[in-house]
Amino acid sequence: MTRLNVDLLVLASAMIPVDPPGLVIRDGYVAVEGGRIVSIGRRSSMPPVSAEEVVEGRGMVALPGLVNAHTHVAMTLLRGLASDRPLDEWLREIWRVEAKMGPEEVLDGARLGILEMLLSGTTTFSDMYFHEDSVARAALESGVRAVLSYGMIDAPGWERDPDKTVKELREAERFIEDWHMAGGGRIRAAVGPHAPYTCSEELLRASAELARSRGLRLHIHLSETRREVEELRERAGEGPPSYLDSLGVLGPNVLAAHGVWLDREEISLLASKGASVVHCPASNLKLASGIAPVADMLREGVNVALGTDGPASNDSLDMFREMRLAALLQRGSRLDPRALTSWDVLRMATVNGARALGLADEIGTLEAGKRADLILVDLRRPHLSTQRDPVSALVFSATGDDVDTVIVDGRVIVRARRIMTMDAGEVVERASRAATRLASG
Ligand SMILES: [Zn+2]
Repeated sequence: MTRLNVDLLVLASAMIPVDPPGLVIRDGYVAVEGGRIVSIGRRSSMPPVSAEEVVEGRGMVALPGLVNAHTHVAMTLLRGLASDRPLDEWLREIWRVEAKMGPEEVLDGARLGILEMLLSGTTTFSDMYFHEDSVARAALESGVRAVLSYGMIDAPGWERDPDKTVKELREAERFIEDWHMAGGGRIRAAVGPHAPYTCSEELLRASAELARSRGLRLHIHLSETRREVEELRERAGEGPPSYLDSLGVLGPNVLAAHGVWLDREEISLLASKGASVVHCPASNLKLASGIAPVADMLREGVNVALGTDGPASNDSLDMFREMRLAALLQRGSRLDPRALTSWDVLRMATVNGARALGLADEIGTLEAGKRADLILVDLRRPHLSTQRDPVSALVFSATGDDVDTVIVDGRVIVRARRIMTMDAGEVVERASRAATRLASG
């Protein structure tokens, strides 16, 4: 057998490549060269390997890095704000404080959020916010993978400001020019009209055109609350999915966050258009928005990914908690333990997220040819040590704290639960100061 010369060799007691579904490789290896997986399999069939670096994952399970498909990561600074209010009141209070946030605050908040995500096994996140350059800068320097959109709003409260339409589009284009494919393709730009109830028809149409002409994702909030759906029905005579479709927005490049209030026809419409929905269960429960029909969407063929939403409406960026909640919620609300299996939810947090972000050829599973984004979870910890089924362990017993090692693009970013690319103490300190400043002003 010819000898493999690689940059990195990862060994683990168990490996879950995610595709094919159901496969768990006992005593596996992953060989990485130039940031890509070049070989994966059982150690017993491993070719002779010379590796510059070896990660020895004894007692650990390796899986693809998690994909947080919807967040506003800089909202780490707004945690706990208006914590017990309904979404519209909560949003007004958030907007009042956000108005005081400049690029420096967004940078501090984004660094803190990215630190939390990397330590808890998220290797890719999809974000929408203002001062998004700061999020891009934080993502670039941290080594995480990101799909970023400048969040556009030209009609808050349904009143359009025509100057704002032009300005928002110009800023979105500028952001795309500056950041798309930065960091060797690790940073991607997307087009982010905030929602049908905060964007005019003109802005929604133009956003769709911009995304299509550049081959980018379109990231939007969709049918999050019953009230927003009822208001649009009164104004436009149709619900959000068909409204967006009539404006030419819906397509396979669309990433729609929430999808809580969807009826059967709307689910079929999303499926037929190939749009992805990002389920954000903790945020939907915290803001009392409702329970998304995830099992129905999956059955109808909608690609459903998983997200935390912003850390002010969750208030965590831990995707393990999100997986557990997603599974429990579908089962309990439908009185059906098979409504969402451990495998379903693990796929939502990995390969479905990759597909939603247009990165399915690059990440989301462990297979030769893909970028090496993977994590190791320590199964020797007390609450995981007797679990016989590693997927059940990941979904129901693990938390982000059990993540030992995080690798993005073949680079070890977290080792033995310590971050290599950031000064964690300084990041926490700066963000705490910024959060205090915002709260006191
Ligand atoms: Zn959101």
